[in-house]
This record gives sequence, structure tokens and C-alpha cells, in this order.
Amino acid sequence: MVQTQILSKNQRVVLAIIEKAKEPLKAYSILYNVQRKGIKAPQQIYRALDKLIEIGKIHKIESRNAFVACKNSNCEISKATAFSICENCENVSEISNSKLSKYLSNFSDDSGMKYSKYNLEFFGLCKKCKSK
Ligand SMILES: [Zn+2]
Ligand SMILES: [Zn+2]
Repeated sequence: MVQTQILSKNQRVVLAIIEKAKEPLKAYSILYNVQRKGIKAPQQIYRALDKLIEIGKIHKIESRNAFVACKNSNCEISKATAFSICENCENVSEISNSKLSKYLSNFSDDSGMKYSKYNLEFFGLCKKCKSK
């Protein structure tokens, strides 16, 4: 189900910058880009980022402390994300694999703890780098 979210001006500006980028963007480079569009306060940007993450429009790559646009048009599960990251060229792509998400949504460990969210990052070599 596609939910229509009404984005604020700041959220639209931030989202457009992240969508245009070819690689995950750090907060400071987002800041640098929006300043030219008249948004001066970092606080506003962080708020917009938080909201965009919450509604699943963007995801945070924790290990890179950077943000990417969601590539998965029906990705509403911002609490469950998985990425593959190439250690050579830093190419980041979102993994959308129903087997994996099904497995993980039922996953529990021996302690009996129930998990409500996950944020996975897999590291390796992408196809391009592997064939070099
Ligand atoms: Zn996504
Ligand atoms: Zn690569």
C-alpha cells in the first residue's frame, strides 16, 4: 500500500538532494547543499532528516553516518533495512529480498528477546569490483 505523505518544504528540499546524489550523503554535505536554497539552521535539516527516516523515504547507513534515498518504492518498513556495501568502491545498495525479510521478521535468539527493528549492513565486493 502506498501512503501519500505530505512533505514540508524543508523535507522536500532535503529529499531531493539525497535522491539526486549518486552516493550516500553525510549530514554536512546535505547542509552545504540546502544552505544555497535558503535553509540556514542545521536544526531544521536534522528534523527533516528524522522525519524522512521515520516515513521510510530515506535510510541511514550507520557505518558511514550517511543518508540514502529509499530505492524500494513500497518500502514502508523503515524499521527494517538491509544494505550491501562494497568495501572497495563504497557502492551502497538497498537489499530488498523477501526471503531475508521474512526470515528476519521471525528471527529470535536464545535469550528469547523479541526484536522490533533491525538495520543491517553487509560488506563485501560488488560485482564490478569482483570482476576486476
Ligand atoms: Zn527502503
Ligand atoms: Zn565496488
